[in-house]
Amino acid sequence: MKDIKTVSFLKNATNIFFHILTNCNLSCRHCYINKKQHGKNTLPLETINTWLDAFVGKSDVANVIFLGGEPTLHPDLFLAVKHAKKIGYKSVTIDTNGYLFHGILSKIEPGEVDYISFSLDGAARRTNDMLRGKGSYDKCILGIKEAVSKGFNTSLIYTVSSANIDELDMIEGLLSDLGIGRFFIQVIGIRGRTAKGNTPGVYPENPRVSRLKWLDVIPETAEKIARRGITVTYPKVFLNLAEKFECAGLVADNYFIFPNGRVYRCPLCEDYPIHGMEFEGNRLVKTGKINETDLFGLSIPEGCVMNRLIQPGNLSYKKDGTPVYKIACCLLKEEISGI
Ligand code: SF4
Ligand code: SF4
Repeated sequence: MKDIKTVSFLKNATNIFFHILTNCNLSCRHCYINKKQHGKNTLPLETINTWLDAFVGKSDVANVIFLGGEPTLHPDLFLAVKHAKKIGYKSVTIDTNGYLFHGILSKIEPGEVDYISFSLDGAARRTNDMLRGKGSYDKCILGIKEAVSKGFNTSLIYTVSSANIDELDMIEGLLSDLGIGRFFIQVIGIRGRTAKGNTPGVYPENPRVSRLKWLDVIPETAEKIARRGITVTYPKVFLNLAEKFECAGLVADNYFIFPNGRVYRCPLCEDYPIHGMEFEGNRLVKTGKINETDLFGLSIPEGCVMNRLIQPGNLSYKKDGTPVYKIACCLLKEEISGI
């Protein structure tokens, strides 16, 4: 039976998005890492473990995703994974660009990590390599094959922009052939490198796709892929005016941790020094006003306040000045499985 559900606002679950370093071997056109805001340091293992400890027990369930930069550049990632499982994280995921440094797949067992999540931004090698760097397509495919052959669960993340939306449906066969279990569609954000706008010739006009294009392509393609037995998750992005808007900063327990100690509750805030929490040494403390949490409660007809501030180009207004639709929280996702 087809199962479509809204995810990411799960109550009683703490989700940690842990950037253990910001270094990366690639320099993707849409990279959201901003070293000025997120730091350049690599966290020592002891600090990673202590910061992981800080979030266990906050709710019934804790999940962690290790990110970077490229997290496999951290020589002790495997020990951090083992620590996370040992102290009770229900699910542990590693997000990687596929280069799998330091022989990570030989240092952890499939039972110790729930998913190795790869990033590919084009079904065609040419498109992916234009966005992520020459050779990155082949390296990612090799990495997926190695992970699958060693018995790891794998997922794939595809960041949709105007440069690659037209080949999204071509990824279907590749996902099946490679044995990938989950497919995550993301939407490009106007932040990090994309916000700097120095990508001539990469995107046709705007990196983001229009509402009509998004609604025309994404739900249908997601269903098509799900029919192959793959669980597909994609951001809702657009809400009808009658649909309920919720800000994850108020109703969910997500923490985006950076190696300089900043802890954000909202990914769209990450380009600014308005994090709501931070680690002072190993102590997690709230920051002073004004910070992101002061924005979460603001109610505007356009939906997400941060979207209105940093990427208003995706809004549309009627003649009387009221919005045509609302923008959902960027963390609101639809999940399709069991078709
Ligand atoms: S792989 Fe990730 S961290 Fe590295 S440049 Fe690309 S988007 Fe940025
Ligand atoms: S993206 Fe918007 S709605 Fe979601 S947490 Fe941030 S401010 Fe709130």
